[in-house]
Amino acid sequence: MIIQTNIPLKDKNWFQTGGPAKLFCEPHNGAEFASALAYAQTHNEPIFVLGQGANILISDDGFDGLVIRPALKNITFETNADGLLVKAGSGVSMSDLIEWCLDHNILGLEEFSGIPGTVGGSVFINLHYFQFLLEHFLVSAHVIEKTTGTIMPVNRAWFNFGYDYSTLHEHNYFLVDATFALKKATDLEVAFARGRRTEIIRHRAARYPITHTCGSFFRNFHPHEVTLESNGKKMIYTAYYLDKIGAKGTLSVGDAIVSHQHANMLVNRGKATSTDIVQLVQLMQKKVRDQFDIVPQPECELVGFKEWPLL
Ligand SMILES: Cc1cc2nc3c(=O)[nH]c(=O)nc-3n(C[C@H](O)[C@H](O)[C@H](O)COP(=O)(O)OP(=O)(O)OC[C@H]3O[C@@H](n4cnc5c(N)ncnc54)[C@H](O)[C@@H]3O)c2cc1C
Repeated sequence: MIIQTNIPLKDKNWFQTGGPAKLFCEPHNGAEFASALAYAQTHNEPIFVLGQGANILISDDGFDGLVIRPALKNITFETNADGLLVKAGSGVSMSDLIEWCLDHNILGLEEFSGIPGTVGGSVFINLHYFQFLLEHFLVSAHVIEKTTGTIMPVNRAWFNFGYDYSTLHEHNYFLVDATFALKKATDLEVAFARGRRTEIIRHRAARYPITHTCGSFFRNFHPHEVTLESNGKKMIYTAYYLDKIGAKGTLSVGDAIVSHQHANMLVNRGKATSTDIVQLVQLMQKKVRDQFDIVPQPECELVGFKEWPLL
């Protein structure tokens, strides 16, 4: 496996911003993944594991270390007494996985249609769409330990899944592959699921920006963080507060603007830098803080910043 130097990351993330990786590699299997980690250990380089870059903002200075983009793209399945198990490498895109499943008359993951990202990034965040969470499907996985390169089998409980959370957030282990319990379906059921997939993608495109964005920039609030209530329920939705400050389609810095479709989504209109996006995020945080005395925090991960640039 070749370790390349000074590789652009701007074309490898959904905001289409940010500087280069000092070092970059794409392991195709567990052994190559382990040797990439060993290289970083030996040369004392920080590591960042990259998926499709759909939920990150990369500093304009880039990443001063080794970026590992897993190219583990195998998909296999087996049936057992419990049903049907599909195993996918961490570098498989969710879209390819859903298509592969439908081609093999397998259902379950199509509710995540239209959400960009790899299996690795999606397990990392416990991918969610309304009431559907990826944790409902994952039964087991292999992870690789950062310092030793040891690959070990783990079960769902190991991930300690929560809203926007899994054990992978500690960055001590990285996902090698994941196995999902899914359902065998008839041709008619698959035709129906394909229709639903098309409809979800159409619905998303009508409601949200679908390019040059990281999706929701801020996570929703935890109930204990907010006091405002509506119909007896804590108002945890960050987009609600961002709507109230009039962010949607209005607030901008350079070519970075808050989407006119969704107040919690920032869009690069073309020439935005990551610095523009950071300044826009700060502006949004300050306005919400001034009006509601709470500060939204990012779901989008900031990569390569020497100091924390947000409130
Ligand atoms: C238009 C748009 C819409 C979106 N809609 C949704 C939505 O509806 N629901 C939702 O949940 N998310 C949504 N997102 C966010 C994004 O799609 C998910 O977070 C996705 O899972 C990111 O996957 P990725 O491969 O791009 O990860 P990246 O953005 O590349 O990385 C994100 C994190 O995952 C880690 N990671 C990646 N691979 C691995 C691995 N193999 N092992 C360990 N850690 C790893 C990275 O280190 C990083 O910390 C949206 C994003 C966009 C751009």
